[in-house]
Amino acid sequence: MATPATITATPEADQRSVQKLVQRQRAFFASGKTLDVEFRREQLKRLQQAIRKHEQDLFDAMYSDFRKPEMETYSTEVGFVELELKLTLKNLTNWAKPRKVSESIINFPASSYVYSEPYGVALIIGPWNYPFQLLLNPLIGAMAAGNCAVVKPSELTPATSAVVARMLRENFEEDYVAVVEGGVQTTQYLLQQRYDYIFFTGSTRVGKIVMRAAAENLTPVTLELGGKSPAIVAEDADLGLAARRIAWGKYLNAGQTCVAPDYVLVEEQVKEEFVHLLSQTIQDFYGEDPAKSPDYARIVNDQHFSRLSKLLQDGVTRTGGQTDGNSRYIAPTVLDQVTWQHPVMQDEIFGPILPVIPFKGIDEAVKMVNNHEKPLALYFFSSSKSKQQQLLQYTHFGGGCINDTISHLINPNLPFGGVGASGMGSYHGKGSFDVFSHQKSVLHRGTWIDLPLRYPPYRNRLPMLRKLFNWL
Ligand code: NAD
Repeated sequence: MATPATITATPEADQRSVQKLVQRQRAFFASGKTLDVEFRREQLKRLQQAIRKHEQDLFDAMYSDFRKPEMETYSTEVGFVELELKLTLKNLTNWAKPRKVSESIINFPASSYVYSEPYGVALIIGPWNYPFQLLLNPLIGAMAAGNCAVVKPSELTPATSAVVARMLRENFEEDYVAVVEGGVQTTQYLLQQRYDYIFFTGSTRVGKIVMRAAAENLTPVTLELGGKSPAIVAEDADLGLAARRIAWGKYLNAGQTCVAPDYVLVEEQVKEEFVHLLSQTIQDFYGEDPAKSPDYARIVNDQHFSRLSKLLQDGVTRTGGQTDGNSRYIAPTVLDQVTWQHPVMQDEIFGPILPVIPFKGIDEAVKMVNNHEKPLALYFFSSSKSKQQQLLQYTHFGGGCINDTISHLINPNLPFGGVGASGMGSYHGKGSFDVFSHQKSVLHRGTWIDLPLRYPPYRNRLPMLRKLFNWL
């Protein structure tokens, strides 16, 4: 692999240029160019070629930012985005067609249609943990639906931010698709402008800031946020399989995944066996010393490294626990004897530390989950259909899997998003097109007849109207 030049900081944008940029995008949208579906398809194809051309740059950038392994960069970033693009290009013409809906007899003669129309100028703000996918997938939706877009990558992954900026600037005029790099200050400038849609992925804390800013202009928002997502293992689960699938979902990207299992609830009678299998799996995946594994990423920066290092003091370490500040390495770790009062159970962990907490019976597991904010994801491992049913019915979460972790994101027919503190709105597949489209409902009314029933003077027509409504 080529060693990328280390990029340590993203430049901040200045307030005036941000303001002008959004004005220019407004003018471009008003020109009507993006309303043409063929234009959108051409731009998406251009994006497709740009991603292919920059694939190696993206691998190098994410390796430089947090030593993300190529296999993970391909499966969760570049390849993932390419699949979304392919699906969108294949279906866009159909998705963009007006949708005829059935008519009410009251309107006879008439026909009704729903028109998907672009909002206008969209702002897309991304986090650092999947710095490419979480910017590009919303961008595909925004472009497919016919919007202009301002894209703001995270400053915490500066190498990836630089490649995304270069790739988009090489291929699109800023009036249509623009990248604005920078940190908190830049995001604040961006949020001072008026948009027609804001799509934010990041923390619940910043999600509130974004929603407050959006409220100023009544701008609709999608908030893709985080939280503590549980994996629950019942005593009748295939424990080896559960250990493998949970370890994969947890230690992928070194635990810096919004839908990673944050902690495990395991039925007490199988806890020891499960913890043993988990430890064994970690060794199978990453070897005796995971620091030497080429398949294990690093923590994104010193601040997160020191935050996570402190959490290692909670409970009893059953596996892992080693750290190296120079390379920001934290071993895949399993913690036992953790209580809900420990700091590790207060906030989203967002790192490779997995607390395992025992429970007695599914009712208790449900209670434990429902005592906290609605999580972004929930994973339940059990071979019992009735327990699966019970858990699905009585817990509330964004999305998840039965007997797996994370894989629900791979199906573009499943809307992906949170609920409550883990977010609002959803996307992926056609959902990404829909989220950036206003559903404009239009009735086309026939003119050859004009029944007088609705017009004043009403005289004694109410009984007749009542009869009609009763008949419907
Ligand atoms: P973050 O909220 O700190 O930052 C996200 C973006 O907001 C960045 O571009 C940053 O520049 C900007 N920002 C930060 N502070 C700001 C402020 N005070 N005012 C205005 N803008 C500000 O999130 P992060 O640390 O980059 O990402 C981690 C979080 O994102 C986790 O909570 C994770 O669960 C969540 N996440 C959610 C999803 C999802 O799809 N639901 C996906 C990935 C990450």
